[in-house]
Amino acid sequence: MTLNPNSIEARDVAYHLHSYTNARRHEEIGPIVIESGEGMHVTDTDGNRYIEAMAGLWSVAVGFGEKRLAEAAARQMQKLNFYHTFTHKSHTPAIELAEKLVAMAPVPMSKAYFTNSGSEANDTMVKLVRYRSNALGQPRKKKIISRIKGYHGVTLASASLTGLPNNHRAFDLPMEGVLHTTCPHHWREGRPGESEEDFATRCAEDLDALIEAEGPDTVAAFIGEPVMGAGGVIVPPRGYWQKIQAVLKKHDVLLVADEVICGFGRTGRMFGCETYGIEPDIMTLSKALSSSYLPISALLINERVYAPVAEQSSEIGTFGHGYTASGHPVAAAVALENLAIIEEKRLVEHAAEIAPYFQEALGSLQDHPLVGEVRGVGLIAAVELVTDKAAKVAMQPPGSMAAAAFGLIQKNGVISRAIGDALAFCPPLIVEREHVDTIVEATRKGLDQLQATL
Ligand code: PMP
Repeated sequence: MTLNPNSIEARDVAYHLHSYTNARRHEEIGPIVIESGEGMHVTDTDGNRYIEAMAGLWSVAVGFGEKRLAEAAARQMQKLNFYHTFTHKSHTPAIELAEKLVAMAPVPMSKAYFTNSGSEANDTMVKLVRYRSNALGQPRKKKIISRIKGYHGVTLASASLTGLPNNHRAFDLPMEGVLHTTCPHHWREGRPGESEEDFATRCAEDLDALIEAEGPDTVAAFIGEPVMGAGGVIVPPRGYWQKIQAVLKKHDVLLVADEVICGFGRTGRMFGCETYGIEPDIMTLSKALSSSYLPISALLINERVYAPVAEQSSEIGTFGHGYTASGHPVAAAVALENLAIIEEKRLVEHAAEIAPYFQEALGSLQDHPLVGEVRGVGLIAAVELVTDKAAKVAMQPPGSMAAAAFGLIQKNGVISRAIGDALAFCPPLIVEREHVDTIVEATRKGLDQLQATL
């Protein structure tokens, strides 16, 4: 395809390096330029309208074009466009948001700390964990365990926690002190005849063996998403979190719940921790915190974490960490308004109500010859594509099948996301049955179109 050299697409190719994009392929095909959004839909510069079945990047919970958020931003921008939270300064939006998040937390939390992205929140978590161990006189207790296919971001530390080859390969990662344990995907990793419970037991035994092998006095924390998102929407097997938490308790290892995708209603409860009975010491939050209208993220830490960190900062003289925009007043004001909308419109309850319809409708694709597994919980799901259901294998090269299906489904008016050989779906929480029907119809049609080419 040749792009008109004066077009917006050609200018993008000329000047813009894209995230998660094959740069050479991008030079050939150019971007789809999204121009506007309203509710469940976005529209591109050619006038094509799509259902955004991924809520952008798992994030636009209240839907696109919410005027109340634009107004909240404008009000705060006019009152106090910026102030920081260093050196004993504060401002009302950050204070109110910290208070609100601690009150909302599913387990007793002590403090909120503000950052600007999920990656920064998890990076900050790594630093807090180190700082705490030093404060407690446990300088060896620094290692952090995450999981194969877990996704925690792309800064040097958070990309190390992420358990995906593309985030490590050619970046010289993971860094030292980060370990990865078993991916809890029963369909893919379970042995023939192994029940979900037995597989969950094996995952916990693997974690226990890893901690024992490394030495419990060297392992500080374990991080996991209640439901894995960007690694392919992997729903934990029955009993998984109870068994994992027992191992962590036994070895005095902190539990970090990465709620960047699950937080604020995605799984049908306010937090994924509530859906799975997880009792974390630290939570990281972003995305639906502001519905991604502005960048903001947060950590919630309990007293076990706060007390030694506070002690250490007073010994050193300062907590030597912080971002210029930590708790940015405009982003915090937008987050507060976003949380107010989620509560007033009862979007978490709505997500729980519509979830069975969403899961069953997508589940109906299981009968399609190209579908190996449909999995999900609440309003997040994945459809795993295969060419051979029994062998659980897809087209070569890996990822090409979902990429092809994704393109066809997008032409049919629905934006999903290709992850490996799976298609992910994570619509705004305002999704209604008619949108679900359209998403499933466009997907089935796309799979039929793909099958016709095989
Ligand atoms: N944690 C999880 C669970 C995520 O899904 C993501 C982003 N997809 C991140 C962390 C990183 O967030 P960000 O892209 O804002 O750095």
